[in-house]
Amino acid sequence: MQHLCTWTCGHFVILQAAACLPTSVLQHDATEGFWFLSDTAEEELANTATERHVAFTEPCDNCAATQERASVQRWRAQEDIRSLESLYISCKLSYLTSAGRYQLLDFSQKARHANDAACKSAHKQFWISSTSRGEDGFFTPWDMLAELAIEAQDLLDSGADLAEVFASINEARAALGKVIKVVNELADAVDLMAQAPDRGTHSSKDASGLRTREHMANNLSSEAFWMRMEDWLKDAGTAMLAAMEYGRERK
Ligand SMILES: [Zn+2]
Repeated sequence: MQHLCTWTCGHFVILQAAACLPTSVLQHDATEGFWFLSDTAEEELANTATERHVAFTEPCDNCAATQERASVQRWRAQEDIRSLESLYISCKLSYLTSAGRYQLLDFSQKARHANDAACKSAHKQFWISSTSRGEDGFFTPWDMLAELAIEAQDLLDSGADLAEVFASINEARAALGKVIKVVNELADAVDLMAQAPDRGTHSSKDASGLRTREHMANNLSSEAFWMRMEDWLKDAGTAMLAAMEYGRERK
């Protein structure tokens, strides 16, 4: 399990360890610099599912030692908020692209993994569920991420204490970790189904020239899915193009 550890200065580290290291252990390393401020930290945040958030109530050792100016911290906070907003968008598109790829799969490929635990969430989200996005608890981490980013921006704009701004940013980062977890699970499930042999049940006409039942069922299900997406529907075109592109790359 990956842990997100955050400090009041806005710095963070993602740790593999079951128990988070106390801040005193995060010492300066002469060869690596402050390792928790590595160049890859942002990248790691954007790609790692974190399930636990440990929030320290003091600044990191680096900031405690250097006493970074408030104006620099404000600049960092603004960058962090922008980055969280763009990660929200990319995770939304990732979800929708997985949906598009799911819809492009052949019926036989989905059927083969109908009872597969790893694909349960994908079937539920992209085929079975009729709950609208706004009412589906599945999207809670996304909504939290978006709301916390807005909250952080409001705090920053109103001149609130920077530790308070970073507290919202850190909570948003924790929500992001949960979003990435489900986004990855869905993409992996679609990857798995895409590997199953395609029996061509989707071809729109059967031998007698009539539309196949599978084709009609798939169209209805796709339509229902996109209507469920409400405010995300406007990204359908981008997601479907990405989904088709994905298929081409694989061939
Ligand atoms: Zn710091």
